[in-house]
Amino acid sequence: MKAKPRMQVRRCIHVSGIVQGVGFRPYVYRLAVAQRLAGQIANTATGVVIEVQGSPESVDDFLQRLPKEAPPLALITGLDVLEIGLNGDSEFRILPSERSEAVRTLIPPDIATCEDCLRELFDPADRRHLYPFINCTNCGPRFTIVRSIPYDRPQTSMAIFPMCSRCRAEYEDPRNRRFHAQPNACWDCGPQVELWDAQGKLVLCRDPVAEAAAQLKSGAVVAVKGLGGFHLAVDATNIEAVRRLRTRKHRVEKPFAVMVPNPETVEQICELDAYDRDLLMRPERPIVLARRKDSGGIPAEVAPFNRFLGVFLPYTPLQHVLFAESQLHAMVMTSGNLSEEPIAIDNSEAVTRLTGVADYFLVHNRQILRRCDDSVVRRVGGQVRQLRRSRGFVPVPVFLRKNFPATLAVGGELKSTICVLKGNEAFLSQHIGDLENVEAYKFFQESVEHLQKILEVRPSIVAYDLHPDYLSTRWALAQSELKTVGVQHHHAHIASCMAENHLEGRVIGFAFDGTGYGTDGRIWGGEVLLADYLDFDRAAHLTYVPLPGGSAAIREPWRVAISHLWAAFGFDLLKLPIPFLHQIRQSKILTILQMMDREVNSPLTSSCGRLFDAVAALINLRHEINYEAQAAIELEMCRDEAFAGQPYPFSIDESGGILQVDSRPLFRAIVEDLRHGATAGKVSQRFHDGLVEVLVRVALILRGRTSLNSVCLSGGTFQNAYLATRLEKLLREMRFDVFTHSQVPAGDGGLSLGQAVVAAYRQC
Ligand code: ZN
Ligand code: ZN
Ligand code: FE
Repeated sequence: MKAKPRMQVRRCIHVSGIVQGVGFRPYVYRLAVAQRLAGQIANTATGVVIEVQGSPESVDDFLQRLPKEAPPLALITGLDVLEIGLNGDSEFRILPSERSEAVRTLIPPDIATCEDCLRELFDPADRRHLYPFINCTNCGPRFTIVRSIPYDRPQTSMAIFPMCSRCRAEYEDPRNRRFHAQPNACWDCGPQVELWDAQGKLVLCRDPVAEAAAQLKSGAVVAVKGLGGFHLAVDATNIEAVRRLRTRKHRVEKPFAVMVPNPETVEQICELDAYDRDLLMRPERPIVLARRKDSGGIPAEVAPFNRFLGVFLPYTPLQHVLFAESQLHAMVMTSGNLSEEPIAIDNSEAVTRLTGVADYFLVHNRQILRRCDDSVVRRVGGQVRQLRRSRGFVPVPVFLRKNFPATLAVGGELKSTICVLKGNEAFLSQHIGDLENVEAYKFFQESVEHLQKILEVRPSIVAYDLHPDYLSTRWALAQSELKTVGVQHHHAHIASCMAENHLEGRVIGFAFDGTGYGTDGRIWGGEVLLADYLDFDRAAHLTYVPLPGGSAAIREPWRVAISHLWAAFGFDLLKLPIPFLHQIRQSKILTILQMMDREVNSPLTSSCGRLFDAVAALINLRHEINYEAQAAIELEMCRDEAFAGQPYPFSIDESGGILQVDSRPLFRAIVEDLRHGATAGKVSQRFHDGLVEVLVRVALILRGRTSLNSVCLSGGTFQNAYLATRLEKLLREMRFDVFTHSQVPAGDGGLSLGQAVVAAYRQC
């Protein structure tokens, strides 16, 4: 008797997400072969389509394992399975890609060199031993080398390097780790490194990386070409070199990031727990803010007045080799630019722009097509917070709950990003910077074009901030063919928090930051909104105070301190026996008072950032700043954590419809403390606790009025880890549902997401 043929099934699986250019097809091939399945896999316009045929158990196992064991760079967002008819397949095949009209797959982000490649990099027997461009489907450049889609070698800056026969064989072998690794290359066929001197002339030497390493060791400033732009590197333990870099780069006190060869060395420099270690090791290799150890050997000049240090690990083979050659303990790796300009990406551009800054240039001939700064993250409570979302994260979208009409959002002015909404995906650009800078504004315009191009979408709606002077606003309003939608700054902050948390309905939104244009034409920044995606009501805010001198007061926090003292004491402030007043010339104070009294150039503000500034100035921590939010950051850093004093008082005026959070009691209490010689640390601690306490009271009053229970925290102020953690904790204790950011920055880097969602909702 013939044996009964074993039962077979065939299923078709459609997978969407980031599944091309990340080693997905070889992965599926290996998995199918391991499960003894026949069938095929093909890239399509919307992802990959797999057909598998075999015993029901094997097919089920395959489906179980498919998402779980996917390659590190793959991101599966949809998996649809269909039962289909059997055919005569007896093996599993990878079908060639079809060129489709509407290619709709996602370009992967740039990813740090993987463990396998690192092993080969330092293996003297490997043919890529010390080759600074080693990569595979699990690692290497992506977004920064893509000219247009589909993501294929001819569309990247690797197009000019024809693969040698050995590289091509790897590239074409579905079982190889380099199958369709678009930047695949080796010593024989790929990009090469050169060392140039300060004038951009080739330095003749046997090994340019070793020579650069030697120069770094002797204290030189070396511009090193990275993934998304040039870094300026110096030995981080060499005080003279760090000072030289500060002077040449015109960067007075803003902290430098430090690249450290491995996690063990990071632990000598910073206090790390398991969570921080995970953050550092993420394939995106972000800069992680970690608490520095005094004994770590990194001089204070690297990050003055800061308890934290931005640390990160090497993420390109070139950086790894540079560390291996130099044996340096840590390198300052700061963006290759002058103060607030965008980072340089082109070899000759770098030489021109960094003249007088860099002593040497370690360059190579693989072009960077998209500028992309390092990302910065910080752990707040048990969550990762994005401070700057850029390399490694872009262009991974934020996935939304529903589909929207295609929308472009142009963000704010400082730390700007843009966003393109397409279907249920929101694509934020990399960090663009401060648009008032000419180069950054050019970069903004390029980013608008490029993002639309790689997403193959032409939105007909553009969302912008209400601030009439923002360059992004002016740009949006000049687009006559687009429908323009203005979105209030703090509403956009709250909407971005709602969007990434998939919230619907109305929330109590705390939007606290430095500056945002209000619907009454004033400068808002300490706002509590009752908001949904469509609209908002202003429910509470910090009381208005004058900002004497407008933007001058942002650079000079002492002016805001005078303003708050004037609000609390009137002209009697002049008699207060506090050290602060003795440090400022009386004539300057009188000028400021006169300005405010006559309402000359003294716009009103409810800014929370300025409240931090005022406190920082009043305790003589910082009268003038030289980078954005410096006073607020230093006020957070100087908290006396061991001190358990009473929170400072604020009062809440409930008489009008909108709650007014009055800071006059706060300033009276601080002055009282200062008269008794309180330390800056104690004042800072009581201030933080006082602010948290009054915000909880506001939330309770608003819940009483509205029955709303969901609270969103957004705006740059919530990058203050203590404030955010403490407020979240106390609100949870009061049984609020609290939502914050983890995918996009709480600051203005996340603004474009909120703008896009609000504008799109208004079209639905
Ligand atoms: Zn690799
Ligand atoms: Zn090759
Ligand atoms: Fe803001």
